Amino acid sequence: MNFDGKDLKDLFALADKVGNKRYHKLTQQDFENYRKFDHWRYVNGDYECGTTQESKDWANEHSDWHCPICGDRFSDKGGRTIDHKLPRSQYPWLSMDFKNLWVICRPCNQEKGEMHWFEYEHHMLTHRPNLYEAVRAMRPTQLLQSLRS
Ligand SMILES: [Zn+2]
Repeated sequence: MNFDGKDLKDLFALADKVGNKRYHKLTQQDFENYRKFDHWRYVNGDYECGTTQESKDWANEHSDWHCPICGDRFSDKGGRTIDHKLPRSQYPWLSMDFKNLWVICRPCNQEKGEMHWFEYEHHMLTHRPNLYEAVRAMRPTQLLQSLRS
């Protein structure tokens, strides 16, 4: 696969196609290709990954001034981050699926870490019950169902 000259929509369509192969069928090359795309999700820039105008625009279009989890202003929490609802360490093919992305603040992203979505909901229910409803409302139902098929 050659990603040069492909636009974002093509990349996501490609990821979806590869994703249907499932994790255990992905090749080393597939992972290499995902890695090339990493820079996209770092909105505020990162010494390793940089940032793109496309990802900044996407984050702006898919968030307002407040983190959907804690409700605080992004500017008070060190800025926006694009997070994978289902962690990309477990579901690499979903790392380029828009349905799997949401914009949350930096501390909330750090707290979520590599937890699977249900682990994360459980964590919030037991440790931050006042924020649980906000998280539950954002559950990626479609994606979770697609994993079962
Ligand atoms: Zn937050």
